[in-house]
Amino acid sequence: MAVWNLGSINEDIVYSVPHIPAAGETLAATQMRHYLGGKGANMSVALARAGAEVRHIGAIGQSSDWIVDRLSGAGVDTRHIARLPFATGHAIIVVDDAGENAITLFPGANAEIPVETVQGALSEAKTGDWFLAQNETVLQEESATLAKDLGLRVAYAAAPFSAGAARAMVPMTDLLVLNAVEAAQLEEASGQGIADLPVADVIVTRGAEGCDWVTAEGTRHFEALKVEPVDTTGAGDTFTGYLLAGLDRGASMEEAIELAQRAAALMVTRHGTSDVIPDIAEVQAFRP
Ligand code: ATP
Repeated sequence: MAVWNLGSINEDIVYSVPHIPAAGETLAATQMRHYLGGKGANMSVALARAGAEVRHIGAIGQSSDWIVDRLSGAGVDTRHIARLPFATGHAIIVVDDAGENAITLFPGANAEIPVETVQGALSEAKTGDWFLAQNETVLQEESATLAKDLGLRVAYAAAPFSAGAARAMVPMTDLLVLNAVEAAQLEEASGQGIADLPVADVIVTRGAEGCDWVTAEGTRHFEALKVEPVDTTGAGDTFTGYLLAGLDRGASMEEAIELAQRAAALMVTRHGTSDVIPDIAEVQAFRP
């Protein structure tokens, strides 16, 4: 089956600076690097590297060919990424010598995805495919409604947390993935415990402590692999991509979680985001 991922695409531009600039200060950066980022793009790359057939639904500006090349190079189907007369979503990240950072995020084209792009993509979807969304784009609710009508299963990563988006998405969600902070925010916003949500499978990730699988029958905890983390950026996105890829190819939830935790643990031993998301062969061979 295929996974249809309505997801954000960002250019992450990272400047190394001696200190975080103060108000009114002009400061020369010593280095600039740029990466493909955005939770949606990260998840698409993770899905593809995990072996899933993934079709990304999203939008970028006119002059971002490198993003399409990067995604298709990772094995992502990019035919449903619209080119719009807006800036590609981007994050300006300054990092100082102590590793402190400050981030300015501009959603750009991610906030302008046309409904026709979603409709065109999902018109090719088949019953039993997965639809995936996060909170860094628009149209999650409309798209999930359409996906459900078409017989797709809906996975939702409730990040960054938005009470309004969660309220709209949870009733349509078959698989909900969120970290411990987002789980607490959702419980507060909904006035319901995670176990009482109308979602068949909820996965709460807990960083180095692993994750919980919450169903109507109860909660099962899975310990994380023991590794020396160097950079936890993208761990959650890698986990979600691998989890869904596993379920999509018919693995049990236990198997899918085991592989997702292995992929995410390997990811935290690496610097960077989408470029360093491991492929399935690396994940299977990983022995921490
Ligand atoms: P991020 O926002 O940093 O991408 P997140 O907050 O969405 O991550 P986490 O709960 O931090 O998600 O991590 C997701 C999964 O990654 C965990 O369930 C675990 O399997 C793995 N993981 C994260 N940190 C570590 C770690 N230090 N050691 C081993 N595994 C880890």
